[in-house]
Amino acid sequence: MKPTNPVFTGIQTTVFETMSRLAMANNAINLGQGFPDVDGPEDIREIAAQALIDGPNQYPPMLGLPELRQAVAEANERFYGLKIDPQSEVLVTSGATEALSDCIMSLVSPGDEVVLIEPLYDCYLPLVERAGGVPVRVRVTPPHWHLDDDALAAAFSNKTKAVLINNPMNPTAKVFSDAELGRIADLCRQYDAYAICDEVYEHLVFDGRKHRPLMTFDGMRERTVRIGSAGKTFSLTGWKVGYITGPAALLDPIAKAHQWTTFTTPPNLQKAVAYGIAKDDSYYDGLAGDLSRKRDRMAKGLEALGFDVLPCAATYFLTCGFSGLGLGVSDVEACETLVKHAGVAAVPVSAFYGSDAPTGFIRFCFCKQDTVIDEALERLDRFLTAARAESA
Ligand code: PMP
Ligand code: GLN
Repeated sequence: MKPTNPVFTGIQTTVFETMSRLAMANNAINLGQGFPDVDGPEDIREIAAQALIDGPNQYPPMLGLPELRQAVAEANERFYGLKIDPQSEVLVTSGATEALSDCIMSLVSPGDEVVLIEPLYDCYLPLVERAGGVPVRVRVTPPHWHLDDDALAAAFSNKTKAVLINNPMNPTAKVFSDAELGRIADLCRQYDAYAICDEVYEHLVFDGRKHRPLMTFDGMRERTVRIGSAGKTFSLTGWKVGYITGPAALLDPIAKAHQWTTFTTPPNLQKAVAYGIAKDDSYYDGLAGDLSRKRDRMAKGLEALGFDVLPCAATYFLTCGFSGLGLGVSDVEACETLVKHAGVAAVPVSAFYGSDAPTGFIRFCFCKQDTVIDEALERLDRFLTAARAESA
């Protein structure tokens, strides 16, 4: 038999699915895969439910329901001062993952270099490779996940077609500084590169910080596409509704990739997300406030147990060192130990690297009910106490 495509052949199932399966098999509390354990706002869900009954349930327009594209355009102006034409500069997709795929398939040609920042979200590398692109990886390094100027500059060349940046960043919980974004923008202009901005955590930013899209930097409006996800903004990860905002000249080929991928996204979900996006500031402030309290609750508990908890400015993830806790030498081993013996699932951060990954960090997801966070901390405490007693 002829070989199937090597990008997808023989590779591992995503770490999120793997850890969720292990969590289920071991009856563990799942702090691995990132999803809230309480569904998002009921009024948004009611609109989706009613629209399912009322219909129409037929193909919506290929670019997305006009009311959702309008809502996305308005949100760009409201939050970032970006003036976006809803007719030609917004595309609705079936999740941010499809949006990333559409952008990469349509902007990257075989042989083009694409600058990626590690640790990276796990679909970036295979998608770039499947498009025939050549990934050029740059790293941010713990504990502050600072982006080194020289390493960044060295990654760009005349062959660079695009940079793909995830800001706020999973799993580091980093918000890129204006200085870092400014340098990325300078390099994009210098080398005439596109920027594909995965900004799914745009509204999960804490402690009074504000997300600033790379698209708002000088000269970036015409070369940047930015991706959002209703899954994150409304705690409805199963809905898989995403949106891309970008200049018409780029959105046009991206929409062509979309038309051969999913073509459209369920209309009832689009209608409900359009309503959700227009929610007033109290919704957005409440979401960030709730999550930052959960972050503090979990960080305090993990620190008390001896984990080395790194700073968390955004997202719903805490990255921790675990040395000295007897969980094993690598992050994969530590996660296996925790899910099987402590009853708590986490994710090894090495899964977010192409190769030569650091192996000293694991990621816990904290968008869980307080009782669940407390129970997870108790389970970890019981396990670590018993392990210490055994080794004494
Ligand atoms: N990008 C990042 C950085 C993510 O963490 C996720 C997680 N879901 C996605 C994209 C995918 O979003 P969606 O579920 O909307 O496809
Ligand atoms: N983005 C989620 C995470 O980082 C996972 C999404 C998925 O499982 N595809 O945990």
